[in-house]
Amino acid sequence: MVDTVLRGGKVYCEGNLWEVDLVVRDGTVASWSRRGDARGDREVDVEGKWVLPGFVDAHFHCRQPAHPDREDFTTGSRAAASGGITTYFEMPTSDPSVYNGRILQTRREMAEAVSVVDFALYAAPGTLDEEDLGSAVEAGAIAFKIFMTAGSPTPSEASRGVFITDEAELYRALQMVARTGLVVSVHAEDQVMLDIIAEEIGLDRQTDIRPVDHLEHRPPMVEDYASARLLALARHTGARVHLAHMSSGFSADLMAAARAAGADVSGETCHHYVAFEGDVLAEHGPFAKVNPPIRGGEERASLRRSIRSGALDILVSDHSPHAVADKNLGLEDIRRSPSGEPGVEMLGRYFLDQVLRGEFPMARVLDGLTINPATRFGVASRKGHLKPGADADMVIFDPEGEFTVDQDRLFTKSRASAGMWHGMQFRGNVDSTWVRGTEVVADGEIVGRAGYGRMVRPD
Ligand SMILES: [Zn+2]
Repeated sequence: MVDTVLRGGKVYCEGNLWEVDLVVRDGTVASWSRRGDARGDREVDVEGKWVLPGFVDAHFHCRQPAHPDREDFTTGSRAAASGGITTYFEMPTSDPSVYNGRILQTRREMAEAVSVVDFALYAAPGTLDEEDLGSAVEAGAIAFKIFMTAGSPTPSEASRGVFITDEAELYRALQMVARTGLVVSVHAEDQVMLDIIAEEIGLDRQTDIRPVDHLEHRPPMVEDYASARLLALARHTGARVHLAHMSSGFSADLMAAARAAGADVSGETCHHYVAFEGDVLAEHGPFAKVNPPIRGGEERASLRRSIRSGALDILVSDHSPHAVADKNLGLEDIRRSPSGEPGVEMLGRYFLDQVLRGEFPMARVLDGLTINPATRFGVASRKGHLKPGADADMVIFDPEGEFTVDQDRLFTKSRASAGMWHGMQFRGNVDSTWVRGTEVVADGEIVGRAGYGRMVRPD
């Protein structure tokens, strides 16, 4: 029995930083100890540092095996680890998409072979086949994920079960998911509304579709309309709906109202929606193209209020790596660029910087990165907190440190597409990241073993 004692730190739990030493045994938190009382085989001096539960990123894409040029479980998990993420939830979008248990098992093996941190896997329910859904649950899916937008017009194994635009199919999918008891995360943008607006602004007749046109094509109405439909369906089917990457303050208000009315719903937002203004599209072009768009202005202010109030209480990266050549397809016509930005390394750093600057209460941010996603997705018996018995997943955070983003030094394979974060300066920094009592990142270097990461399934 080997004990590690973290001495001198401030341990975060339930809204407070506690001045205790932390004893770790066999990968789990053994006890909290009065300063100086505990003895260990290994003693680690974390004087003055914050000892935080490892971050749980409930929205992540590395896409292996679909696009090895963009990211894989090796580089994606290293990027996550460097940003303090100890468990990431990989989305089902790959090739093939994860629409049954057999495919989920194959992806699990890929991740277990190389991941340096723990992970969970989403499944796609859109084949509407009981056997597919049942086998995915059996294989350990953390949750389901669907898009209310249309996929590529040519059906493929990469889009199978992921995109649902038909009302009847959406209703049926939610009924089926409700019976599994798992959460379903939904990309809520309404395809019919997108088509109407494209027609209204004459998008198909224009030749030069600039990056800022992305905002005009996808106004908050597209998201609000989808959210409203979905929340109504959630209330009446009993499906445990989770609104992915919310960028509209009104949708956040609708979600809070549905929750107050008894619907089992939740929502998440991303650092890019609250860090940037809408003009980031003019400055960074396709590299700032995210769906729904980074809006800035009143929506941004409203999202920030929702985080402060606790209405929007899960914070995620939606890490979406893309190659520069693919992103550059959007220079002439922004619609041709894939959506998303590879920002996982900035997720915790950005929000903690905002805490240190007094912009958000500490508990809103830290709970949003840890216990809230862990609880919502059913992994809080071991993840998301540092009470005795939990996995010793920890971020040792230096509130006196600082971090300047140098995109060339990021761990994601798509670092060349992370230009909108380049040069940004954050207060505080991640000193080290620990997973189940083992250091996987120390002083900015990955020291964890490839393949150390394990799959997490709902309790
Ligand atoms: Zn996503």
